[in-house]
Amino acid sequence: RAKGNNLTSYELFNVEMRQTMLEVFELETSLRQALEQQQFILHYQPIVSATSLELLGFEALVRWVHPEKGLISPGKFIPLAEETGLIIPLSEWIFQEACSQMAQWCADFRMASSLKMSINIAAYHFQSPQFLEKIDQILTETQLLGKNLKLEITESLLIKNTDRFLSLVPQLQQRQIEISLDDFGTGYSSLNYLKRFPINTLKIDKSFVDGLDYQKNQADVSIIEAIIHIAQSLGMDVVAEGVETDRQRQQLQQLGCEAIQGYLMSPPLTSEKAREFINRQLSVTSDQSHT
Ligand code: C2E
Ligand code: MG
Ligand code: MG
Ligand code: MG
Repeated sequence: RAKGNNLTSYELFNVEMRQTMLEVFELETSLRQALEQQQFILHYQPIVSATSLELLGFEALVRWVHPEKGLISPGKFIPLAEETGLIIPLSEWIFQEACSQMAQWCADFRMASSLKMSINIAAYHFQSPQFLEKIDQILTETQLLGKNLKLEITESLLIKNTDRFLSLVPQLQQRQIEISLDDFGTGYSSLNYLKRFPINTLKIDKSFVDGLDYQKNQADVSIIEAIIHIAQSLGMDVVAEGVETDRQRQQLQQLGCEAIQGYLMSPPLTSEKAREFINRQLSVTSDQSHT
């Protein structure tokens, strides 16, 4: 047996494993507390018209304000929340919060009633039997209309839950709640299912948008072109995510992409900053109406 520093790789692996497990366990415990102590906040990233830059809506993006570690990104804790089942109460909180916020803006700004709040939907949340019931409850409580809501689902969620999806769709349509397919092109990408599912919007993944710069990647241009053609022929609209340069914006616009989202226009904003964004939008549109 190894002694002192002379650990075998097997034992070293165990030490590291132990460390990782401890960290995960710690994070899991504090995730539980975070929910109780309301340490989560939502940021809102504007989605705008590629041509006029007019505000069309926001995507709600969750953050964890950890008392010691500061802001933790969803990439770090969403998977953990999924493993521990905490994803359901967390998702319900996110839904509630995003709807309350949107309802508040609708009450304060007339133009906000044409905006859509996009909410990322986790698979377990989507599968939960109370999914629709909870949405109805929240819409009633907040007095928000379904037409102000858009659910972002991924291709993998769709593929793994097609029956569930098809049974929910008429109910969502009845409430005028729209559906976006997020990170489109990175998942299973079976084009065959697209025509079977009434999806309103395809969100072109950032990885394709990245390739638009300096025309580095002709393949990405072709892929984006193809996605836009497919969307148009199926009566869907297109949002490009991760737009960072005006060159990308121009190319997307030329290719026929209606809407864009990314650091070029704005990073995800706190609710106060998002409110200012709406306000600025208002002054722009009212300026136009005077000329
Ligand atoms: P997503 O839904 O594809 O969200 C877009 C991500 O891209 C966000 O990262 C956003 O901050 C980032 N982003 C936006 N514009 C740009 C840009 O121009 N450049 C770059 N480099 N990045 C940009 P975030 O907020 O870290 O979220 C990451 C992922 O975590 C999301 O990807 C989504 O899958 C998940 N997520 C975020 N919030 C929620 C939530 O409330 N519920 C669930 N279930 N998942 C969430
Ligand atoms: Mg999203
Ligand atoms: Mg996305
Ligand atoms: Mg993405």
